[in-house]
Amino acid sequence: MSKQCSKCGKNNAIYLRHYSGELLCKKCFIKSVEYKAKKTLSKFSMINHGDRVAVAVSGGKDSLTLLNILKNILNGVKPELVAITVDEGIQGYRDESLDIVKNFCSNLGVENRILSFKKLFGLSMDDAMELRPSKKVSSCSICGTFRRRAIDLLAESCGANVIATGHNLDDYVQTFFINLFAGDIERIGWAYPEPVEYGSGGLKKIKPLMEIYEKELVLYAIQQNIPFQSEECPYKDESIRTDFRNHLNNLEKSHPGIKYNAYNSILKIAKKLKTTDSMISQERKKCLVCNRDSSNSICSVCRTLDLLIKRN
Ligand SMILES: [Zn+2]
Ligand SMILES: [Zn+2]
Repeated sequence: MSKQCSKCGKNNAIYLRHYSGELLCKKCFIKSVEYKAKKTLSKFSMINHGDRVAVAVSGGKDSLTLLNILKNILNGVKPELVAITVDEGIQGYRDESLDIVKNFCSNLGVENRILSFKKLFGLSMDDAMELRPSKKVSSCSICGTFRRRAIDLLAESCGANVIATGHNLDDYVQTFFINLFAGDIERIGWAYPEPVEYGSGGLKKIKPLMEIYEKELVLYAIQQNIPFQSEECPYKDESIRTDFRNHLNNLEKSHPGIKYNAYNSILKIAKKLKTTDSMISQERKKCLVCNRDSSNSICSVCRTLDLLIKRN
């Protein structure tokens, strides 16, 4: 026998939210997820009137769900949305997701801009993997370094000042533990969600889904018929992140709500660590090669390119 939704008392429940004990019907569940994202946006002043928001959309479930949610909750109010997509150039993997993104955006009526590694750096991710001098240079770190640059440039090219990414609560908590165990205290401070402007164009990065469990985003995507790429990246390295994901999910099973508690503690720690002097007064330099903002005389993108193609 199916049970009734504890919110509206009318429809059959499809989901038991373990950490709160609520039973939710499809409609109330969708509403509650969107409400959570809306609350996160306002709690950390992520989007202001007149902002132009570039949503980084890869074709995975988190990013398409983010676009869908932002489109629903910002409907009618100012900020303009544009979807930006990076084509890393991974044969047999990227093409499927580029099509998914293109169709999804055109159904939502959102402009989609694509930039490829090949066009921007002269080499695709497939090329980079062939050129990499040693397997010790992680594929995800090369890809991540290039992708962050491509996303910044895409956002700038469409006049956006806000970049929204689909990171969820699980990602956020995992990242904290990765940084904690790596001894990287500075990064924990950087992770405080109130956006800090960077670059000459004053870009800001936001994570509107960071207070939502990954599990609930998967259910949201299924309930909303959001198509997403299921194929895994062939270069994905089995990182420590997978271990933390498994540990945290096991803990959550026996102690519902524990990830959310951890999230709240991390917020407080990050806020304390986000000391204004270390973050804001840190002198920004320009990269001697590409002239973009950098904390060293040569930025990480140019250093990676040098490593791959020995340009000098
Ligand atoms: Zn209901
Ligand atoms: Zn550079």
